[in-house]
Amino acid sequence: ILRVENLNKYYGDWQALHDINLTLHKGEVLTLLGPSGSGKSTLIRCLNGLETFSSGAIYFKGKKINGSSKTWQALRQKIGMVFQSYDLFPNLTVIENIMLAPVKVQKRSEKKVRAEAISLLKRVELDEYVDTYPRELSGGQKQRIAIVRALALHPEIMLFDEVTASLDPEMVRGVLQIMADLAKKDHMTMIIVTHEMNFARQIADQVLFLEDGKILENTSGKEFFAHPQTDRARDFLTSMD
Ligand code: ATP
Ligand code: MG
Repeated sequence: ILRVENLNKYYGDWQALHDINLTLHKGEVLTLLGPSGSGKSTLIRCLNGLETFSSGAIYFKGKKINGSSKTWQALRQKIGMVFQSYDLFPNLTVIENIMLAPVKVQKRSEKKVRAEAISLLKRVELDEYVDTYPRELSGGQKQRIAIVRALALHPEIMLFDEVTASLDPEMVRGVLQIMADLAKKDHMTMIIVTHEMNFARQIADQVLFLEDGKILENTSGKEFFAHPQTDRARDFLTSMD
């Protein structure tokens, strides 16, 4: 469903990503692992058009994505993204946050979108907060709403960039549980950046291990955690224990 070929990305003269290649099939979960500054966020942002890249190509369902902003705008509805900092609109209630893009951008029926939003909120056990404003929610609750908001657009791929990194430990589990559920029950195609190694081990079909903007390993999750090929990956796993 997604293929990246020889992607290079520069910030000024400095190269942040070197010749990145990856293939993601429908229903697969890919986790991007690597030390801080290795380029994980940069890569995931390139896949959503939030960053431009310098050379290489991205294909979505076999079609090359040309760089125009219009293409990306359309694509962003197909490729949902949730970040570390929950970016809910503070002046909108939970349900308004969720309904905004499906109604305004996708022009879907308000009634249907509302019904679906409520059933998604039930699923993450937040349906009692329909009319609440984000400031009255905990970090974990906001993050679950951010996930629901992305899902309400019916994405074909979901990108998650350290969505639990700024949460209190007791909030982390609930959010990871939702992602695990999306993988197992919905067979959602996902790319996940995470520092939660137990979670990554359980959920990853495929692992990309990045360092200094280069892919050092691209293997199955099983293989990566059982037999990392490079010293760097071994050191990384040890340091995360
Ligand atoms: P972390 O685990 O800390 O989130 P990361 O793997 O996501 O790290 P990136 O945020 O992708 O790393 O950053 C990769 C490199 O690119 C870093 O050295 C960073 O300083 C640099 N970088 C990121 N964004 C920019 C930018 N807008 N301009 C210049 N350099 C940048
Ligand atoms: Mg990052």
